[in-house]
Amino acid sequence: MAYSYEAPVSQSLFDRASVVTPGGVNSPVRAFRAVGGTPRFMVSGTGPYLTDADGREYVDLVCSWGPMILGHSHPEVIAAVQDAVSRGTSFGTPGEGEVALAEEIVARIEPVEQVRLVSSGTEATMSAIRLARGFTGRAKVVKFAGCYHGHVDALLAAAGSGVATFGLPDTPGVTGATAGDTVVLPYNDLDAVRAAFAAHPGEIACVITEASPGNMGVVPPADGFNAGLKELCASNGALYISDEVMTGFRTSKAGWYGVDGVRPDLMTFGKVMGGGFPAAAFGGRGDVMAHLAPAGPVYQAGTLSGNPVATAAGLAQLRLLDDAAYAKIDAVSAELRSLVGDALTKEGVAHTVSAASNMFSVFFTDRPVRDYEDAKKQDVFRFTAFFHSMLEQGVYLPPSAFESWFVSTAHDERAVDRIAAALPAAARAASEATA
Ligand code: PLP
Repeated sequence: MAYSYEAPVSQSLFDRASVVTPGGVNSPVRAFRAVGGTPRFMVSGTGPYLTDADGREYVDLVCSWGPMILGHSHPEVIAAVQDAVSRGTSFGTPGEGEVALAEEIVARIEPVEQVRLVSSGTEATMSAIRLARGFTGRAKVVKFAGCYHGHVDALLAAAGSGVATFGLPDTPGVTGATAGDTVVLPYNDLDAVRAAFAAHPGEIACVITEASPGNMGVVPPADGFNAGLKELCASNGALYISDEVMTGFRTSKAGWYGVDGVRPDLMTFGKVMGGGFPAAAFGGRGDVMAHLAPAGPVYQAGTLSGNPVATAAGLAQLRLLDDAAYAKIDAVSAELRSLVGDALTKEGVAHTVSAASNMFSVFFTDRPVRDYEDAKKQDVFRFTAFFHSMLEQGVYLPPSAFESWFVSTAHDERAVDRIAAALPAAARAASEATA
């Protein structure tokens, strides 16, 4: 596809980057491979806007893939960071900031009795699984096709591929032995989970699921699915791990737990709780967390865990996220969903706007999407045309049809108006696109 607009400075930065960094990026989706064209190199962000190296401004609907829930450069978060950084950047000792952040998490999310801070969502899920295996003395892990839990070896099995009963490694470098203890099941299918427990009695350490998946596009759990998982885990002596790296502190004050109230044994967090810095966490039942070193035998550690600057940013952000903030984000999300849906309907484009609280994405199909197989059946080529039209008009969407869109408290009327103005042409581009 040829694009009628150019980004010469971004292109020259991308050319430089491609010499010294594989694929020119430090995380694959940033390379725009799914949509083509030049990835935009951003130089600054303010409120709901990003500015790229060519000086073009965009309304940002990615929000750094979730963390920037207050928009960019929120003055109180920046002030907290400046205050923290003025006192030093890392001590390698305990500090009060990490205690305060842990207290905030425990206060918000009732099933979390204790929490351990780490630096990325990947570390959080990797550590939670190790802890579950250590606690139960079992090896196998159940995950769902289309759920992404970071690039943990054992969890990359079918993180983005079709259904398989036994995990086959999705990527070179993950050995069959590592993936062999991973059982991959179709999402939203409790019978498959029941069958897995029956096939592997006493062997399954845990079931890990995105609390409400956002990594195959937004595909919320069917009524009773999370509760059913919890029940099956409890009756089979396995732990139920809810991955709230994306949903945590976003879909409500208490994340997805605040929406469905299903009580996990362990939970993982990241994104919003770091305020744009590398901070993440896992936590849950006190008796399980007590197995973690130095209290217990399961080893886990990190040089930068609980980093004072990251914890200051995260704490400042969480403290600003009160009921009014969530009401605002929910309202902006609802407005955008209806604007997008109306624009696509007007152009006769088959679509489903799928939402989980304020997270949402658009599937270019009118068939119901309940799992990854359904999600893959959409007309991806229509998303590509839609994406580039929006980009050209100054709206930055996730560069993939399989990602959630994110909004923030900073998305005000002016930002929404700019999105609304871009939608008719983008919907037309989607309708005219050919495979
Ligand atoms: N879990 C979920 C649900 C995620 O969405 C992500 C990242 O997008 C991760 C885990 C991994 O987090 P990180 O990218 O911080 O390693």
